[in-house]
Amino acid sequence: MAEVPEVETLVRDLREVVVGRTLVETEVLQPAAVRSPTVDEFTNLLTERVLLDAQRRAKYILLPLSGDILLAIHLALWGTVALVPTEQPRLLETLVIWRLDQDQDLRLIDKLGYARAAAGTPDILAERLDLNSLGPEALDANFNVDVLARQLARRRGILKSVLLNQRVLAGLGNRDADESMWLAAIDPRRSAASLTSDELIQLHAAIVKVLAEGIALRGTQRDLFGRKGQAVHRRNIFEKPGQPCPRCGTRIAYLRIGGRNTFYCPNCQH
Ligand SMILES: [Zn+2]
Repeated sequence: MAEVPEVETLVRDLREVVVGRTLVETEVLQPAAVRSPTVDEFTNLLTERVLLDAQRRAKYILLPLSGDILLAIHLALWGTVALVPTEQPRLLETLVIWRLDQDQDLRLIDKLGYARAAAGTPDILAERLDLNSLGPEALDANFNVDVLARQLARRRGILKSVLLNQRVLAGLGNRDADESMWLAAIDPRRSAASLTSDELIQLHAAIVKVLAEGIALRGTQRDLFGRKGQAVHRRNIFEKPGQPCPRCGTRIAYLRIGGRNTFYCPNCQH
C-alpha cells in the first residue's frame, strides 16, 4: 500500500538517479490518469524538460522541471513508479510513460488504475491540488509534540479521522495511523481534542517511530528499481482482525471510522 514511507522511498530514489536528466517525451496510455490539464496539454508541457529535483508533500511526488513546470504524481492506494529500460515490455497496468534520456522510462503503474498525475506551473498546480492547505509534515524535523498538540487541539472530530486529514497532519495513511494509535495505546474512537499531555507525547513518538521504521525498511512496495521493500504491511494490528494483539493477546477488533477500515485492540487501547 502506497503510504508515506513508500512515497518517500521513491522520492529518494528519484532524487538520486533522475535529477539532472532530461524528460524527452510523455506518453499517456490511460487518459483518466491525467488529472490536470488536458492530456494534450499534459504531454506538450512534459516534453524536453530537465528534471531539477524530487520532493514529497503528503503523498504527492513533486518533480520540478526546467521552464518553471511542476509534475505531480499521486499513487493512490497501490500505484508505483518504476525506472526501466525503454525496450522493456509495458505492463497492462501502465498508465503514463515518461521517456528519459539514456533509453530509460519512468513508468506510472497501478493495477487498480487510481494513480494520477498532473502538471503545470507551481502556482496553478498548488491551487488545483490544494497543496497549500496541507498540514505540517509528520516526517519533518520540526514535527514535535507541540505541533501535534496544536493541530489536534483545534479538532472536534474522532482521532482516527483527524489523523487521516492531511490538512491537520500530512503524512499518515490508513495503515500508519492505525499502527501509530496501537503503539501509543490510544483508542482510535477518541475525540482528537481529548488527548492528555502524556498521550500526545506517546502518540507523537509512535507516529515518528512507525514512519521512520517504514522508511528505514524502504516501505512495503517495490522501489524505483523494482526491489521489494522490507517493511511489513500488516505490522501489529493492521488488517489482522481476530488475531491476538501482540501486546495483550486480546483479539484485534475491526470497525469502520469515516468510511475507512480501522483495526485496534479493544483491551489495551484506551
Ligand atoms: Zn492489546
